[in-house]
Amino acid sequence: MNRNEKLSNHFTFGELIRSDTADRNGIDNTPPDEIIPKLKRLCDEILEPVRLHFGRPFRPNSGYRSPELNRMIGGSATSQHCLGEAVDIEVAGVSNYDLALWIKDNLQYDQLILECYRQGEPSSGWVHVSLKENATDNRSKVLTYSGGTYSNGLVA
Ligand SMILES: [Zn+2]
Repeated sequence: MNRNEKLSNHFTFGELIRSDTADRNGIDNTPPDEIIPKLKRLCDEILEPVRLHFGRPFRPNSGYRSPELNRMIGGSATSQHCLGEAVDIEVAGVSNYDLALWIKDNLQYDQLILECYRQGEPSSGWVHVSLKENATDNRSKVLTYSGGTYSNGLVA
């Protein structure tokens, strides 16, 4: 699949697989074909509704990660990014807490994690969202990751 091809109205295949670390280190971050429909689901069920609600263009920070890229950045060995089931996002001008809160209340997800957010700094951190292939497998789990530990729910 060509990187410029659209997975959904506002998001291209290239945007869901791009990685500065992969580019810098010459890692091929192209996913196996079976991952592509999962990336499309992230676009349809997470990214497009966020784009529509907040009305601002954004590019995901991180979508698919090949096992090699994931090792290089020290990601969890069971990272859903490697399965094409997770995406990290921020929307310019929107507090990451507010972004996570809206997703929590309005979308289906497996895990929603507000990561490295610091109160009083709206643009600090990012929001990790994952989605399972089968809707019934989604755990609707909400966590906040800060200072090396996870807490339940959204903690500002
Ligand atoms: Zn993530």
